[in-house]
Amino acid sequence: METSPQTPTKYSADDPGSACHAVIVAAGRGHRATKGASGEASANSGPKQYQVLNEKAVLAHTVQVFLDHPVVSGVTVVIHADDADLYRHSMEGLLDHAKLLPPVTGGATRQASVFNGLEAIAHAEPASVLIHDAARPFIDADTISRVVCALEQSTAALPALAVADTLKRGDTDGLVVDTIDRTRLYAAQTPQGFVFDVILQAHRNASIRSDIEFTDDSALAEWSGHSVVLVEGDARNSKITTADDLKEAKRAMTHASIPDIRVGHGYDTHQQVAGDHVWLCGLRIDHTHGLSGHSDADVGLHALTDALLSTIADGDIGSHFPPSDPQWKGARSDVFLHHAVTRVAQAGGTITHMDVTLICEAPKIGPHRDAMRAAISDISGIEMGRIAVKATTNEQIGFVGRGEGIVALATATVVLGGVAS
Ligand code: MG
Repeated sequence: METSPQTPTKYSADDPGSACHAVIVAAGRGHRATKGASGEASANSGPKQYQVLNEKAVLAHTVQVFLDHPVVSGVTVVIHADDADLYRHSMEGLLDHAKLLPPVTGGATRQASVFNGLEAIAHAEPASVLIHDAARPFIDADTISRVVCALEQSTAALPALAVADTLKRGDTDGLVVDTIDRTRLYAAQTPQGFVFDVILQAHRNASIRSDIEFTDDSALAEWSGHSVVLVEGDARNSKITTADDLKEAKRAMTHASIPDIRVGHGYDTHQQVAGDHVWLCGLRIDHTHGLSGHSDADVGLHALTDALLSTIADGDIGSHFPPSDPQWKGARSDVFLHHAVTRVAQAGGTITHMDVTLICEAPKIGPHRDAMRAAISDISGIEMGRIAVKATTNEQIGFVGRGEGIVALATATVVLGGVAS
């Protein structure tokens, strides 16, 4: 007997015989999510599927995922008879989508609402249908694909998570009666997928029985004698039921929409000494002096290396390349910068901008600016348009003004986890 969720491998988006329709159930009143602890409706009262998360209604987030999925050919939303205006307002921007069909009015129960949705699309004769709760806005394309794939082998499939908590049965006094073995127990999610004719017939059969009511469609398929395949669910695909769920969903949705942008800063200075050239930003420049240092003393690349390491909180140039280690004596600083670029990439970061300011009385930087940008681009693999080099004198003030040393400041911007589009 199969005891763990299956992992299907493919679905056929282009097969004309595989038209797959989604029915989104949004007819519930769901006031539990919008009432305070006292049970009083809050300022945001109204069904949870119309609450706003990150400037869009919960329902619009949910519907968008199905509209965007290549295997879904049409989407029908089942709404409460009182919610037509709410629906139009909440779905603004999606109403003209070619895949979105007009909403269908639901019934007195979830089961009756789904039934209405199925009857409304029966004329289109879809091969399969996905039935999904509007209050699960974090549904992702992969979960939908897993359910659809499973339907190639089975008449019914649902995403589910193995129960992790120990389960207790309690009595009416709040006392534990027994502990339930959680082996092979799963928490059911949606979308639940079905061969269309099978679930429509099951609903028709159930609709003439007033003594039974099912809380999900899988139970209805089971009642009709069909096997239902379990596929891997997604922990993020939770249902918004309580006010706390709504608060958590707002937090998660906002967090997901803000890219993790890091800005790192670096500073370096080296003393000017006797010599005939300096290395600045990867470029060898003839000069009346040199810079003292363990390596090639390239203050520009050192400051930039520190700025990059700073974006991922990964120490500084000294901790990666200790001056006490003889192998770095006379080293070219491109090694340091290249290492920092690699560390950022390994941390999942994308460098979007690097900026160096050199502060010195001499040599003149302007004539070398673009060659420096090109050198940094060569070392880092980052395009020149994202690399700035600037320079200023110190107005003959202080140690830099007296020509005793050169200072470099650098800033690096990195987006962790990829660049927001
Ligand atoms: Mg240095």
